[in-house]
Amino acid sequence: MLKVILKGHDKYYGTADVVRLFFPSPTEDRAGGTVWCKDAPDIVIESELLPSGECVCRTKDKEYRFDGAPEEVGREIKRSLYMALSDICGIAPPWGCLTGIRPTLVAAQTGSAEELSRRYLVRPDKAKLAAETAAAEIGLLERIVPQDINIYIGVPFCPSRCEYCSFVSSDISHHMGRLGEYKEHLIREIKTLSPKITRRIATLYIGGGTPTVFSDEDFAELIDAVYGNLDIDPDCEVTVEAGRPDTITDRKLSHMASHGIKRICINPQTMNDVTLAKLNRRHTAADTLRSIEAARQNGFEVINSDLIAGLKYETPEDFIDTAEKIIATGISNITVHTLYKKRRAAMSLADVMASAKEVDDAVTAVYGMLEKAGYRPYYMYKQKDTGHGLENTGFEKGGTACLYNVAMMTDARDVLSFGAGGMSKRVFGQVDTAKYRVERCSSSKDVLDYMMRTDEIAAKKAEFFELS
Ligand code: SF4
Repeated sequence: MLKVILKGHDKYYGTADVVRLFFPSPTEDRAGGTVWCKDAPDIVIESELLPSGECVCRTKDKEYRFDGAPEEVGREIKRSLYMALSDICGIAPPWGCLTGIRPTLVAAQTGSAEELSRRYLVRPDKAKLAAETAAAEIGLLERIVPQDINIYIGVPFCPSRCEYCSFVSSDISHHMGRLGEYKEHLIREIKTLSPKITRRIATLYIGGGTPTVFSDEDFAELIDAVYGNLDIDPDCEVTVEAGRPDTITDRKLSHMASHGIKRICINPQTMNDVTLAKLNRRHTAADTLRSIEAARQNGFEVINSDLIAGLKYETPEDFIDTAEKIIATGISNITVHTLYKKRRAAMSLADVMASAKEVDDAVTAVYGMLEKAGYRPYYMYKQKDTGHGLENTGFEKGGTACLYNVAMMTDARDVLSFGAGGMSKRVFGQVDTAKYRVERCSSSKDVLDYMMRTDEIAAKKAEFFELS
């Protein structure tokens, strides 16, 4: 068992975050003054903040000392622990001691890739990526003024459950009879709140789950209700996450196109048919290519595909092969995800950690391929429990970045969510200023509960956004 003994400070959270880069599921024992991890070798480390302000990390045979300014104590504690664990484990997770879900926010604060590497021990290629992405995010955010609102419409249903997923999505094989009912409640919520929205809608994102899981008729009815009730002007960026290629039909594509929708996500995750079958995704790589072509034929100008590095059944070469095939389609948006452990997911973190270095190398290779093909990173986030703390990065070419993704992930703009599982948020003050704060208003994650309380949930959101 690994045990980190905290002395002179109470930075349990940051300590656990650093431990998590090396070993799974650390536990904070605040009463006992330790952070420990049962699935780890027997290691004892002391992490001490001395009265002088120096941070010291002691292992069996070495001491790591840092002497930062008082406001940097939290970082220095993490940095010394990161160095100790790096030496013990013989690995250096690429983001150094920079944990947390928004590396670009820290990159913007530090001002340069070099500084990010110096302060947080971030590997130079990741520091450069973060700095470049942070600059892109800042530029893109200027296109959404704080008075605007961004809308998310959630459809938490999928045609089957992917093995690695624990999203609140419902497998429709268990809820087939409820899908039409859910659509009715979603439309009801939209109709209730839309007359009260007086702010310009900058972006609209219909996501999931898999929004195209509906029948052609129900999908058309939902899209008609969205356009018939919300004030969507021609400048509003509208994106539909079609997700699974097996749910995309010509009728759905042409119906979206008839409303002027130009952005769609078609997410293969992998172009390997064997993996797709093992993951319980009921489509093939050929279906993905056919859907991309059909979307193009229907006038969609911006197509995004999500890819996942580190899938259980895949080698790094499989991931690189997937990226090659998707880049070859010439679509303008590609989002690279690294597999992370989600609650209730069928895969263990040990699976992920074992191949983390290989995944890191494959992701680096694919970033190089994307850069060569003219793609630039424009938004990024990390999730807890990702092997080696790897990131998810959205790439675009030709100025086709998805503003909604930036608004959502940077926590810099208001988002009003409709449907089960959606999180609405209001942002006060500018990011990185003393007045900045984000207030959140959740819907119900449970589809049945959402349907029982649709009016109550809508009323709560109206109050939250001061809509009358
Ligand atoms: S399509 Fe996405 S949301 Fe649906 S089960 Fe698969 S990973 Fe989860």
